[in-house]
Amino acid sequence: MEYQVIVIGGGPAGISALLWCHSLGLSALMLEQAPELGGQMLQMFHPVLEYPGFPNATGHELRDQFAAHLHTYDLKYQLAAKIEAVDTTARRVVLKGENLQAQAIIIATGARNRTLGFAEEERFPGTIFSQSATRDAKLFSGKEVVVVGGGDSAFEDCLILAESCPRVTLLHRSENFRARKSWQESVLANPKIQVQPNCEIISIAQLSVEMVELTVKNHAKDSTEKISAGGVFVRLGIQPNTDFLRRQIALDEAGYVVTNQAQQTSVEWIYAVGDVCRPVCLSVATAIGHGAIAAKDIALRIKAENY
Ligand SMILES: Cc1cc2nc3c(=O)[nH]c(=O)nc-3n(C[C@H](O)[C@H](O)[C@H](O)COP(=O)(O)OP(=O)(O)OC[C@H]3O[C@@H](n4cnc5c(N)ncnc54)[C@H](O)[C@@H]3O)c2cc1C
Repeated sequence: MEYQVIVIGGGPAGISALLWCHSLGLSALMLEQAPELGGQMLQMFHPVLEYPGFPNATGHELRDQFAAHLHTYDLKYQLAAKIEAVDTTARRVVLKGENLQAQAIIIATGARNRTLGFAEEERFPGTIFSQSATRDAKLFSGKEVVVVGGGDSAFEDCLILAESCPRVTLLHRSENFRARKSWQESVLANPKIQVQPNCEIISIAQLSVEMVELTVKNHAKDSTEKISAGGVFVRLGIQPNTDFLRRQIALDEAGYVVTNQAQQTSVEWIYAVGDVCRPVCLSVATAIGHGAIAAKDIALRIKAENY
């Protein structure tokens, strides 16, 4: 066995786990599917205010600090290394057809934005479909846009977009909104924003390279209408990256990995850390704490076995 620990995922949880493995004397390899480290930190274009020590750093800048930390110790990681399958019982991962085995595996695969599930979202990312008004509002200035969702992100996006767009339509499949009250009040009071509850997009047609037509079903009225939009902001929350783990370890009803306080999963020597285990507070700080806990538990158990 070349490594004692394999860490799957190079976001803050995986990076922390790798660093902690190093300081606890464990040989470890981290595998990240993307061409760069950072996970969701790369989507944070705002200062990460609550992360201690770097009050003005954006997610990108914080990621650069984390990556520099790995390089200081010359820690081992591979990019563009997507794990397609795991054999949890054998503690083996499959990378590009090759089997890699370790004494322990730490799953740090995080979460991704939910999508509407239409092919058009993949074909026009950034030109018609977006997942962040903070990042993309300028690109859609002057256009009539639609925001989909009912939480904080959707309501915040509506308020940002209403500053530069003539009309913003908020579609949400129910009439219960999860967004904080103050943003709900601001949205409802804004004449440029039209809120449509109980509405679901059932199809999307492309009108031009810059315009789509949404067919929207209103479940309360049992009616459909067409809405043309120059931009669609999909803010439906996140889902865990656990597809490759199904039927291998215990997942909750939403697909998140179930762990105990030591970040152990239902399978011996398999750990999960960060967003992939649905922490109460989804944050860089939590992810980093989880990485430390898992590495420490593994180190203690390996030490106990060797006595
Ligand atoms: C827009 C936005 C704003 C945010 N703002 C804040 C904030 O202000 N403050 C804060 O503390 N938190 C914020 N967060 C949340 C924070 O980014 C996450 O809680 C944190 O990144 C979780 O870290 P993680 O390592 O668990 O997962 P992730 O960051 O999701 O990283 C998981 C990594 O695993 C990789 N991966 C997935 N599947 C595989 C596979 N099969 N093989 C190999 N690699 C794989 C992914 O590519 C990814 O790099 C924000 C998130 C977003 C999206």
